[in-house]
Formats: sequence, C-alpha cells, structure tokens
Amino acid sequence: MTTNEIRKFIARILCEGVQLSPDAIEFIVQSNNIDQITNQIIGKLRKLTRKPLILTSETIAELLHIKRETVKLRIDAKEVKEDIEIVFNASDVINSEGNIDDFISHFISRFKKIRRIILRERFDARGTITIREAKRIIKKYNDKVKLICIISSKKKADNGNIIFEIEDLTDSIRAIVPFKSNIIDKAEKIVKDEVVFLEGRIINDTFLVNEISQPEVPRINRHSYESENFPDIYAVLISDLHVGSKYFMRSTFNRFLLWINGKIGDEKIRKIARRVKYLIIAGDLIDGIGIYPNQEKELLVKNIKKQYEIVARYLSQIPKHIKIIVIPGNHDATRRALPSPAIFKEYAEPLYKLPNIIMLGDPAYIRLHGMLFLITHGRSLDDILATVPGTHYDRPAEAMIELLRRRHLAPIYGARTPIAPEREDMLVIDKVPDVFHAGHLHTFGYLIYRGIIVVNSGTWQGQTDYMRAMGMKPNPGKATIINLKSRRVEAVLDFTIESHIKFV
Ligand code: FE
Ligand code: ZN
Repeated sequence: MTTNEIRKFIARILCEGVQLSPDAIEFIVQSNNIDQITNQIIGKLRKLTRKPLILTSETIAELLHIKRETVKLRIDAKEVKEDIEIVFNASDVINSEGNIDDFISHFISRFKKIRRIILRERFDARGTITIREAKRIIKKYNDKVKLICIISSKKKADNGNIIFEIEDLTDSIRAIVPFKSNIIDKAEKIVKDEVVFLEGRIINDTFLVNEISQPEVPRINRHSYESENFPDIYAVLISDLHVGSKYFMRSTFNRFLLWINGKIGDEKIRKIARRVKYLIIAGDLIDGIGIYPNQEKELLVKNIKKQYEIVARYLSQIPKHIKIIVIPGNHDATRRALPSPAIFKEYAEPLYKLPNIIMLGDPAYIRLHGMLFLITHGRSLDDILATVPGTHYDRPAEAMIELLRRRHLAPIYGARTPIAPEREDMLVIDKVPDVFHAGHLHTFGYLIYRGIIVVNSGTWQGQTDYMRAMGMKPNPGKATIINLKSRRVEAVLDFTIESHIKFV
C-alpha cells in the first residue's frame, strides 16, 4: 500500500467527523482490502445516531462484528527476548601507533594466523615444511614439497609465465607457474600479500609450482531450528544510506521505515515486518564531507554532525523492540584505515542517544540467537575488482567470496584500502560465519557459498555523477531478510517501486 492510499482512507473517515486512533489506522492498514473495509466502516458510522468521537480498533471490531483478537495488532518479535553476543568488535582492540615494528609484526601475525587455519582445516596441508627446509631437502633428494607462504610480489613475464616472490618466516624464493600449466588460471587470481599453500619442486633455485591452493572456507552446515521451540524472528540487512547526499533516496527509505513499522505491504510482507528483531547496517550511514574531489556539489547537507542528526531522526522511527547494529563505512566519521573503530561519538551524538542502537567497529562478529554474522563495510572489494580476473561490480557477492577464499578481509596491502599495521592482524577471517554481510559497492547481490550466506546489501543512494561518469549503475533500495529460525534468506524486499514492495 502506498502512503497516498493511507492518506486517502484517513481523509475519508475524518470527513465523517470521526477521529482515528493509531491502532485503528494500524488495523485498517493491515486489512487486505482497504477500500472495502473503509466503505464498511463508513456505512456503519452513517447508521449510528451518535457517532463516536474517536474510532479505535475496538470500536471497529464492534461495528463490524469481528472478534477483538483479530483486531489487536500482533508484533511477534516484541515477545521474544533478544539474544545478541558481540563476539568481536574492532573498536575494542585498536591500538597501533603505526611504527615500522608494527608493520613487521602485522605481517607475521597475518602469516601465522592463516597458516594455522590452513593446517587446521586442510588435510592435504599435512607435511608442509618451511622454505629453508625445502631448499635443504631439494639439494639432497629433489623431492616434491609442500609450502605455506605469503606472496610478496607477483608479475607476469612476457612469455606468459607467472612469477611470484614467496616468503615464510624462514626464507624467501622465486616461484614460477609456467603459462602452459593447468593451474595458470588459478595463479592469475592470486594477489599480492595473500597467504597460500603450494606444492612443487625446487629446480635451479626456483620453486616450480604444481598446485596452488587458497586457505578457503570449510563447507558449513547451517542447522535449522525449524522443528524446535525457537522464536520465528528475522534480521534485516541494509547498507550505504549516504544521508546528506542529494542522491539519498529519501522516499524509498521512508517506504522501508513504513514497512518496518508494519504500515505498508500486503499481508505476507507485513508478517515479515512483525517478526523483525534486528537491523544490521554495514556502514556509510552518511555521505560525509571531503571523501572525494568536488563532493560538495553533490551534498544537500554540508555538515557531518547535521548529517548524523538526520540519520538519527530516520533511525528513531525504527520500532524500539528492534535492535539496530551499526558499523562504519569509508564515508563515516571514523579512522580511515582498517580495522576502524565505531563511528566517533563526538560527531554522531544523536545516534548514540538512540536506546536501541549498538555501535560497533569494522570488522565485527556478532551472534544473534546463535547465528554468527561477520559484518564489514567492504572497502577492499575495490581492490578485489581491480586485481582478480573474472570479478565484476555487478556481482558483488562473488567479490566477497574472493575474501572468504583468502580468509582475509583486505588481502592486498598498499592498494586502495588503507590498512593500519596493528600488531595483530584482525582482518584475518579466523571464524567461519553463517552470514557474511558487506556493502560499499552499491550493487545488490547474495549467494550461498559453502553454506555461508554472502550478502552485499547495495545502497539507498541513487546514481552519483561519479558513477555516471564511470558507467556504473547502482542497485538500490533492497533489504535482505535473514530468518534466524530456518537460518535461510527469508526474502529480499525491493522498496524502489512507488506503489508497492516487491519480492526479489
Ligand atoms: Fe557507500
Ligand atoms: Zn563505502
């Protein structure tokens, strides 16, 4: 149902000289045929000698001879106790002063953490040795060896061979994948600074690669709680509002707010709204200021605090029984480098004042009723698109899968994604999530990868001048609904259509 339709029936009843209580509006909105029920009510009202001053849901029940219970608005999620565990919050652990020592310990940490993952999760990685050991053994026996190493550089020779400089904690060596090799496609996808698992032989001080494997994620089994006494509740995933931009899609977002308040949509869609218990926003709440050259021209609100004030006004319309979980994006007021702390309080005071909001850093791991969510804004997806062949802006979930395969949220150091060299590399994906949620690319997409629900939430911003110049088209106004009971994607709703909400 559209806002116009709502206005229309309210106006019609007001014309009868009767006011409407909020629960009466609620009830009429929830009925399947608004015109019909409005006609019925008006018909009954006209027959009364003394009309009520205010029409409540109870008076409607009496007038139309229907049971009170069917009138009372049910919000299922309200009855459910929230169950949220913050498993990891980047905000809590950031402490780098950024000196060179940290840079070295950062890479040692990355290497050790991912090596541990490979050794723990891959049976074929048994029997790996160090590069130093490999050099020694090969001199004696020329055996095939297995190595876990970090890619310090990658280049393509004129003849098509791919040449890596690989390194571990003991030594380094040149590694080569000949262009005729059957693993050349795999090698093409390997990027600088990722940790991989190689098999091959050393010939003349060069490691000739036979097999190349990424750490990967193990296939997970999402246990469904369908048959058990488990509450039927949902988490909604959205991202990239960009409030303050003149391209922020205000009416589309308003439609989302009306829906989450149970005010619009057919019965099926309103039933979903009643069960929403959590809303997760993966960053870029505001458009910010000075994020890219000439941004001023595209801003409607040119003050960061004011931008957050408006965001808070929108989010204050989310019903209070819904917990809102927020992480920052690159347009938000936080440190530019990853991992980033939660949006700075001094800029976003009104957000922090909302009673139902949880402000976290990027990345964050949370558990909702036992279901593990990994939330990151997804800045490094730019680097993935630029370096991994076969990835495309239009298929954002595939780019996210490239991060899962590498078990790292920003595998390439020194490219477009600024990374703070914390002593411990907190961008390693050491826990395999049930849901991996990001945004940033402004295109929508979701996939199931090895049992993991991978969602890129898209945006609520229209096409900016920059995007138009680059030929990029956003895919805005989507909300992904995760059913915490069945542990599946319940629905994807599209709010961009004026008259109704669409299932995607
Ligand atoms: Fe964004
Ligand atoms: Zn972004």
